[in-house]
Amino acid sequence: MTPEEFGYVRPSSLAEAVAALAQPGAKLLAGGQSLLPLMRLRFAAPKTLVDLQDVAELRGIEARGEEVRIGAFTSHVDVAAGAPWQALREAAEQTGDRQVRRLGTIGGAVSHADPAGDLPAALLALGARVELVGPEGRRSLAIDEFFVGPLMTAAQENEVLEAVFVPAEGKGSGSAYRKLRQEASGFALVGVAARLRLDGAGRCVAAGIGVTGVGFTPYRARATEELLVGTAVSDVEVEKALGAIVQDIDVASDAYASAEYRAEMCQLFGRQAIAAAKAQARS
Ligand SMILES: Cc1cc2nc3c(=O)[nH]c(=O)nc-3n(C[C@H](O)[C@H](O)[C@H](O)COP(=O)(O)OP(=O)(O)OC[C@H]3O[C@@H](n4cnc5c(N)ncnc54)[C@H](O)[C@@H]3O)c2cc1C
Repeated sequence: MTPEEFGYVRPSSLAEAVAALAQPGAKLLAGGQSLLPLMRLRFAAPKTLVDLQDVAELRGIEARGEEVRIGAFTSHVDVAAGAPWQALREAAEQTGDRQVRRLGTIGGAVSHADPAGDLPAALLALGARVELVGPEGRRSLAIDEFFVGPLMTAAQENEVLEAVFVPAEGKGSGSAYRKLRQEASGFALVGVAARLRLDGAGRCVAAGIGVTGVGFTPYRARATEELLVGTAVSDVEVEKALGAIVQDIDVASDAYASAEYRAEMCQLFGRQAIAAAKAQARS
């Protein structure tokens, strides 16, 4: 199918993009890898597309004090090559195929909020935050307050996601992302990102676990994180912590995987992600 007719504008600054988005029926276009298929199916019919490709403020990865800023228009390829944290690079590397990774952007992936999106799981594990800019100014939101439902976020319709901020990697830290792919689409049937910080004695002093493909939104497995902190991350302690990874989650069941299978795979891929994060933290 072809999309309904639409207008097209190409702002060259963030301020111009915010002004263009304020027009009725306007929608932002980043890599188009999620939005254009929806338009072709006529599930989305924006009056005007506001193309972000010329907005320089939205590009690039740079250190900012205790954080690293990743501009919203940074492609999955560039995140895979240049972002901090192994979990984030691995999530970008495992997103879609080569074309999707070259065109798709971190801001588009986060704003699209697919319940099986890869980057959201890594960002949740890292305790990232996002900055949004709208007509009222700029605001910051923790990533775990951002995903509010399937394809739904806490952003207002008139806000542009400017950048994602992740904490800088500290000494004794490690992270990893492990994913069970749905063969045809490549999307995660289950994806688990783990971040650990170990002290000199090998004890876990901080943990982040992000899960995707399992619930109605990507989520942070807080109970598992709490059970890991203070332990030596031994096999027994990891098993106990993983016992809580789908706690309070309505686990998805569909033609590709039953809820029981997903819950089981969540433990398996969680175990792998934690083991890889631990090995890196100790190296
Ligand atoms: C064949 C195929 C396979 C895929 N496989 C995977 C996969 O395995 N894992 C995975 O996670 N994803 C997958 N994707 C989705 C891919 O990651 C997309 O790149 C991503 O979801 C959307 O990014 P985009 O830059 O293309 O955004 P677009 O499609 O341009 O936009 C998506 C949405 O975000 C909004 N938006 C974009 N930028 C901003 C911004 N800066 N501020 C506010 N709103 C914004 C748009 O208005 C739109 O609503 C796949 C896509 C395809 C086509």
